[in-house]
Order: sequence, then C-alpha cells, then structure tokens
Amino acid sequence: MPDVLVAGGGPTGLLAAYELERAGLDVLVLERDARPATQSKALALQPRSIEVLEDRGLLAALEPYVEARLPAGHFSGIPIDYTDLPTRFPYQLGIEQAHVAAAIEARLRTPVLRGAAVTAVEQDATGVTVTAGGRVHRAGWLVAADGGHSTVRTLLGAAFPGTSARISLVVADLTLARKPAGLADEWRLPSVASGFLLPLSGGRYRVVVGGEEQQRLDRDAPVTAGEVQRALTAAHGPEIEVGEVLWASRFGDAARQLERYRHGRVLFAGDAAHIHLPVGGQGLNLGLQDAVNLGWKLAAQVRGHAPGGLLDSYHDERHPVAARVLVSTRAQGVLGVPHPDASAVREIVTGLLAAPDARRGVASELSGVGIIYPGTTGRATDVPAAPDGRAVLVGASLPAGWSDRVETRDGTEPLLVRPDGYVAWAGGPGLDATLRRWFGPRAPAHSDRTSVSA
Ligand SMILES: Cc1cc2nc3c(=O)[nH]c(=O)nc-3n(C[C@H](O)[C@H](O)[C@H](O)COP(=O)(O)OP(=O)(O)OC[C@H]3O[C@@H](n4cnc5c(N)ncnc54)[C@H](O)[C@@H]3O)c2cc1C
Repeated sequence: MPDVLVAGGGPTGLLAAYELERAGLDVLVLERDARPATQSKALALQPRSIEVLEDRGLLAALEPYVEARLPAGHFSGIPIDYTDLPTRFPYQLGIEQAHVAAAIEARLRTPVLRGAAVTAVEQDATGVTVTAGGRVHRAGWLVAADGGHSTVRTLLGAAFPGTSARISLVVADLTLARKPAGLADEWRLPSVASGFLLPLSGGRYRVVVGGEEQQRLDRDAPVTAGEVQRALTAAHGPEIEVGEVLWASRFGDAARQLERYRHGRVLFAGDAAHIHLPVGGQGLNLGLQDAVNLGWKLAAQVRGHAPGGLLDSYHDERHPVAARVLVSTRAQGVLGVPHPDASAVREIVTGLLAAPDARRGVASELSGVGIIYPGTTGRATDVPAAPDGRAVLVGASLPAGWSDRVETRDGTEPLLVRPDGYVAWAGGPGLDATLRRWFGPRAPAHSDRTSVSA
C-alpha cells in the first residue's frame, strides 16, 4: 500500500509525487489519460520555478527544449523587466509544459498509473480509499492535483468560490501555409492579453485569439480551422493562411479558489485548488510551488514527526499566494478586454509600472521570488536542497536529535533552510525552538542518524 496517492499526473501532481519520493515515501500517481501529454497549455517558467527545478537537478533535462529566455515578464502585455531580480535566473524560460512534466515523470521511482481516472474518494480515520480506472486503491493520504475541473473537488463537494468566465478565448498550435511579411520568427512578449501569435519549434505557431466570434460560440463547441483562420485574418490581414491545426482548446477568465486546501486526508494543489485567466504565465508556476511546499510537510506527517499545525501551514502559506495571483490576473484581464477605454487604462498603468518601485514590486510577484512565508526570511538562493528531502543547516552545529530531518553543512553564514528552500533561521538565539517549530520534537538520543531511511 502506498503512503500517498496522487490524483492527476500533470506537472503539479508529478512534482508533488517526486517531492514525496525524495523524502522516502511510497507514492502512486493515478492519471486519467492513457498517454503522457504531448500538447502544452503553458509555455513559460518563472524565475522561482527555474530555481526550484535547478535545485532538484531537473533543469539540465529541460535545456534541450528551451525555446527562449526572456529577460522580462509581462503584466497583460506590459513588459516587466526582470534583469535586476535577486536570482541566478533573471528571466522567463520559454518551454512547453509537456517537457517539464516529462522531465519530472522520468525521475519517479514508481511509474505513473495511466488510464486511471479517479471516480470515487472516501476517507476515514486512517486513510483514503480511491477508485480509479475501476480499481480500488488505499493509502494514508491523497494529493488532489487533477486540474481545473478536478473530479476530487466535485466528489468532496469542496467550496470553490469565485467568478465564472465572462470572456472566451481559443488557444491553438498550428502550422501556417502562408505567413504575412514581417511575422516575428522569435519569441516576443504578447502585445495584449487577448491575443498573440508565437513561433514554436518544428515550424509550429502558438495562437491565442479572443474576438467576437469566440464570445458568441458555445464553450464546448469544437475549435475549427475556419474559426482560427477568420481570427488570424482579422488580426494579420489576408496573407496569413492556416495550414494544419495540431491542437486547440477554449479557455476563459473564470477565477476561483478553494476555501480550504486541506479536506481531512485530502490535500489540493495546482489548478485543482485555483483557476484564473492564464495571463502573465502564472498557473503552472503556482502549481509547482504548491507541490514543493506540500511535499515535505506531508512527508513529515506520514513519518509521524510533523509538529502540530505543520500540514495546515500548507494552506496558510499557499492560499494567500494564489489569492494574490487571482487579483493580478483579474486586473490583467480588464486591460485586455475589448472595452473602448481599455487602451486608456493600459496607458495609465504602463506609466505607473515604469516607476522603479512599482515595476520591482510587480516583477517580484510575477517571478515568484518575492514570496516570504510567515516565520521565514524568504528563500535561500545559494543553499542547494538535500537530495533526500531533509532541511539544511549551514554554518552552525545541529543539536542532537534532529539529524534524521536536518543535514548539516559548513559555511560562514548561519542558515537553517526548510526542504522547500525557505530560510527558517538566520543565526542568533532560537535555533532549538525553530527546529521544533518546523521539524517536530528532537528524536531520542539512540535514534539519531545521519540519513533518512525509506
Ligand atoms: C492557454 C493557456 C496558457 C497557459 N500558459 C501558462 C504559462 O505560460 N505559464 C504558466 O505558469 N501557466 C500557464 N497556464 C496554466 C497552466 O497550464 C496550468 O496552471 C497547469 O497546467 C496546472 O498544472 P496542474 O498539474 O495543476 O493541472 P493540469 O495540467 O490540468 O493536470 C491535471 C492532470 O490531471 C489529470 N486528470 C484530470 N481528471 C482526472 C481524474 N479524474 N483522475 C485522474 N487524473 C485526472 C489530467 O489528465 C491531467 O494530466 C496556461 C493555461 C492555458 C489554458
């Protein structure tokens, strides 16, 4: 019996599984689709996600698929310079989400169980019983990372308040039979929230359109080549001609967030916990950060040494971050809608965002590097994560009784870094109390050890 089941093998579920496995747990990912995704909704990784993936040794595997390094993010198409961000990666990586998911999946010890759509979830005092693909699975805990239409969320009747979609857009990957003169052959930031045309590898283009026709059509209507052609002709003139539509989907600006990320033994992460207009390249990044925040806390809970409240701190820390992204993406949506005065608002906001402090504030939010969880001083930029998911103590001696949860390293600057990379202590008094707060009581002297056993 696995320690933890994960519903959904998208990037969030896969990274959550990887974090749990690194900490020595047995994990089984249940994925609805029979085959790994080849199409990608997201195309952008933000600096904090790049840091996390590099820290886990995953960045090298992504390198061959990197399409662009953009030294800026954007707020509804308004460029937000990243070059002075305090990170080794002051840029967005243009990369298709499917490659990110595949790189994480390749690291899992237990293969993802595919063709296993979750259809029933029950929980009791000791665990969860999950029916998926007609088979019954049992584990102590369930991570629900089954995306924006989360079945687990529906099965549990979890409150998901917010606003329904009011605008409708189409995303499509396609080839062009004829290109208009002057079409950019390299990545550029989108010019407005409601549409862009971006070159991808292999002669493909990513198109996002959201004109009048899209607003009229039913949300479930299939996207046709004719519909995309009409939208592209309207935007780029008669010279543009669609070749083959390889993949297309409709999306909107619904903005919803779970009231509670934890429902007993079920923990929600990624799009299952929050949805919003995908502007500014935030959703995938939120999901990846949810996964690394949850992983070590749930691992500690399963191992039985989580201090009181640690698992609930997952909600306390991550809910406000996504709530803020919902505010940001709703505001960005307003700048992109076809309102006669949207351009006036855009002009004013563009001017305001030129002020260095405003630009730095927005850059720090969009990039994810500005997150400071309560009780931490922000992320450590130069302390690589321990490979076994332990915390890291640098430049100080570790009191007896925590070496199963904390690795020690030499260094001049004292730092205690949580397994998700956030600094819990930076010298001075209170190391013992901090260790207890995040990692639970000291182990009896005879059980002190230097590595975590599975
Ligand atoms: C057009 C568009 C562009 C975007 N661009 C960006 C971007 O540039 N940057 C960014 O950060 N974000 C972007 N996003 C958002 C990003 O794609 C999502 O936030 C991200 O996919 C969330 O990952 P996830 O793993 O939480 O969910 P998903 O990727 O949706 O994965 C959920 C998984 O669960 C599986 N599943 C569903 N139901 C079940 C079930 N019942 N049982 C088992 N498995 C199930 C699905 O098959 C899927 O594999 C974009 C989104 C869209 C629509």
